[in-house]
Amino acid sequence: MTIKRKNFLNFLAGALICSCSSSAKDIPDPVPNLPDIANLPGYNNTDLGVTVSPDATRFKLWSPQAQAASVNIYDSNNSKTPSKVLEMKQGESGTWVVSVPEQLYGKFYTFQIKYAGKWLAETPGVWAKAIGINGNRAAIIDFASTNPEGWKNDQRVKLDNITDAVIYEMHHRDFSMHPSSGINYKGKFLALTEQDALSTLGDKTGIDHLKELGITHVHILPSYDFSSVDESNPSANQYNWGYDPLNYNVPEGSYSTDPANPATRIREMKQMIQALHNAGIGVIMDVVYNHTAKNDDSNFSLTAPLYYYRYNDDGSYSNASGCGNETASDRKQMQNFIVNSVKYWADEYHIDGFRFDLMAIHDTETMNRVARELKQIDPSIIIYGEGWTAGDSPLPAERRALKENVAKMNGIAVFSDDIRDAIKGHYSNATDRGFATGKPGNEETVKIGIVASTAHPMVDYSKGNNSKFAYASSPLQVINYISCHDDLCLTDKLAKSLPEKSEAERQRAAKLAQTIVFTSQGTPFMFAGEEIFRDKKGVHNTYNSPDEINAIDWQLKNTNANLFNYYRNLIALRKAHPAFRMTTADEIARNIVFDDVTTPNVISYSIKNNANGDSWNEIKLIFNGSENEVTVNIDPADWLIIAQDGQLNPDGLATTPGGTLTVAPTSALILAKK
Ligand code: CA
Repeated sequence: MTIKRKNFLNFLAGALICSCSSSAKDIPDPVPNLPDIANLPGYNNTDLGVTVSPDATRFKLWSPQAQAASVNIYDSNNSKTPSKVLEMKQGESGTWVVSVPEQLYGKFYTFQIKYAGKWLAETPGVWAKAIGINGNRAAIIDFASTNPEGWKNDQRVKLDNITDAVIYEMHHRDFSMHPSSGINYKGKFLALTEQDALSTLGDKTGIDHLKELGITHVHILPSYDFSSVDESNPSANQYNWGYDPLNYNVPEGSYSTDPANPATRIREMKQMIQALHNAGIGVIMDVVYNHTAKNDDSNFSLTAPLYYYRYNDDGSYSNASGCGNETASDRKQMQNFIVNSVKYWADEYHIDGFRFDLMAIHDTETMNRVARELKQIDPSIIIYGEGWTAGDSPLPAERRALKENVAKMNGIAVFSDDIRDAIKGHYSNATDRGFATGKPGNEETVKIGIVASTAHPMVDYSKGNNSKFAYASSPLQVINYISCHDDLCLTDKLAKSLPEKSEAERQRAAKLAQTIVFTSQGTPFMFAGEEIFRDKKGVHNTYNSPDEINAIDWQLKNTNANLFNYYRNLIALRKAHPAFRMTTADEIARNIVFDDVTTPNVISYSIKNNANGDSWNEIKLIFNGSENEVTVNIDPADWLIIAQDGQLNPDGLATTPGGTLTVAPTSALILAKK
């Protein structure tokens, strides 16, 4: 949602070395006829880039408009001139090919094409799977050497339905950089392989913290090779979210211990994934196929000029990403690229899921193919994304993978900005309040979130703040959340919108907010560190803020132990009770019954009928977002009190026979009966 503006270090332009007589950074004139470009033949095989066999090294480049193409072989990433230049020959479906009768392990290479009479600048191509430092050249390595011990037995986390997942969104540096983290490999992939890490105050951190919390999947912010951080200067401690893609099929070097060794980043990312899998935790990659860091000198432009992007009528780049360009998934080879790229990550790295940034820049057909082909690899793989764009696009709205079009997509979920904004207040208006912070008028939109944006006879979508119709045909299509890396984190949002309140009172609001999310239908998602009330010093867009802003202070786990335990119990409650994880809209419509409430900022409902095979016959949930105590009448029965007045225990806090009960201000009351 927030535009992740690039901190664009144009190191590549200065570092380029061209072996040919002329080179060009910009696409030369004349601009070819765009409709013809759209119809160029696609190539869907997976041997683009380099393939090494026992007796040969083969290069293949998709570049249907090239007049000539060559491969520059370098002995090292630092070599000033190529040791060999291989002339490529035209192959099938717009490809160029060349091979040499030897294994070139240890060498580096670039492609270069002649286009409209000029040789363009060198590029590692779009299918580099290993690269040198800062990703200017591709590397030829033996992938067997990148597999950690036991890798062949490593398996993805089994998942019946996405609604069984509890997603924890984290950035590598946020998670481990703080001096209190007790982690040795701070800011690295390997941070998540360290067992028994303790904070300076003795609380579990790192992977042990994740296990203790009980989440099922980590969603790691962009971890493919991005452009903004100079990998050759690790001591500069540069921070970036990484929404500035450079090489899509290689891990980011600054998260490895040795970015100059092409195998290290690959091996260490696999070690991280293996360690998480061993802990029963899946790994979701944040993927940003919707735009690239560069325009005319991107790897896409330098191999197939003008093909991979969308343009305005005047020939300028269209900009639905807000970052200067947008890719064209509606073109065959861009679609092939996205599909084969995620499949590569799933196969080579055993990735458990993908989160698509600005997914609505892609077309629904492409997203359906992504889901279909990933589910063929493993039905446990989950796919979700932002069902919006950051600007207008030439792609017609009906073809965009928008939230509003999610019913046209199979096996894909979208973030619910409905529940997010309704609970805490508008994302871009810092002082705006929501249901959990005492602002009336959001009740119906919270109910839309509770039923996962599916049609329900007791929910009036005409009163929805963001959406006016039930866009999801199934709860499997919705991710519910209160906050993520974008915008103010929950702690800061509460500070800005409840300036007169104490921290303890704000934590009550945080508990209520997350209780609504984690008991709602659909899939819950949380932002790393909010379970210990991490803040970002009030900074709204921290995409390149320093560690002092972004790093999680793990001493807060001690200070806010009560809050952490609440989150842990809340997650345990959800995982123990399938009633919160129904898989069809029909079940939700049948089993969820809202009570008629006229008090502002109060929602009361039941999940009935041992929903989804639950051991509890009925669960009663009452959310009081007002500053007043409210009184409710509960049917007489042997009720177990699960949550009350800022406390929660999935095994029960106490029992009650029902009747007249009170719900404290800014709190949830949850009751259950067998
Ligand atoms: Ca990089």
